[in-house]
Amino acid sequence: MIPKQHEGIGMTSQRTRDRLIARLKDRGIRNKQVLHALGVTPRHLFVDEALASRAYEDTALPIGHKQTISQPYVVARMTEAVLQEGTPEKVLEIGTGSGYQAVILSGLVKQVYTVERIEALYQQTRKRVMQLGLHNIKFKLSDGSWGWESYAPYDAVVVTAASDEIPSPLIDQLADNGRLVIPVGHPSGAQDLLLLRKSGNRVEQENLGSVSFVPLVQGSVHT
Ligand code: SAH
Repeated sequence: MIPKQHEGIGMTSQRTRDRLIARLKDRGIRNKQVLHALGVTPRHLFVDEALASRAYEDTALPIGHKQTISQPYVVARMTEAVLQEGTPEKVLEIGTGSGYQAVILSGLVKQVYTVERIEALYQQTRKRVMQLGLHNIKFKLSDGSWGWESYAPYDAVVVTAASDEIPSPLIDQLADNGRLVIPVGHPSGAQDLLLLRKSGNRVEQENLGSVSFVPLVQGSVHT
């Protein structure tokens, strides 16, 4: 649960957040747990203070290092897809960024593992999440295309950066009946948000619609 002093006033108040939730419902988000998680999470704490007044608009916003915090609708859609057939226990996220998606997940599942390739974001976000008093998120600085082998298998994997191809370690590290949500397509063009379900040797695929994410980039950046 988010501590009281982070509740916000004015453009970051509960009323402002409630308007965002109403918009997400209008756009078709139905899962009550997901709507609640977005309603109680102070998104303004995940962006620079200068952007705090825009934190409850349904748009992606810059977080530095040419990266963005995802649009709330897309975060809700991905989270809903992951919870669709029962609540997963262990979820791996690739692309920690601001930590917003990881924090939303942490309120809904038992344990979240998240991997970021840019050291500055990794450090900043770890600190932010510690200040929020959340203890069920583990962070790793690495190229997430390789997944996070030591805690595999995962009940769900959420990738928040786009690539032309689905990195095979992410499918390998899925548990049986696990779900993978990933934007696939060229980063400068249209991407499809795909939901994959693994059962035995078979992988089924569903297209959840068009999205726009920053690219999944190889290697890690140490600053
Ligand atoms: N989930 C984030 C969205 C951040 S944008 C949020 O809620 O704020 C995507 C993030 O993916 C960026 O921080 C980017 O640095 C990271 N990223 C891109 N390629 C990556 C890779 N190969 N491994 C790990 N992280 C990667």
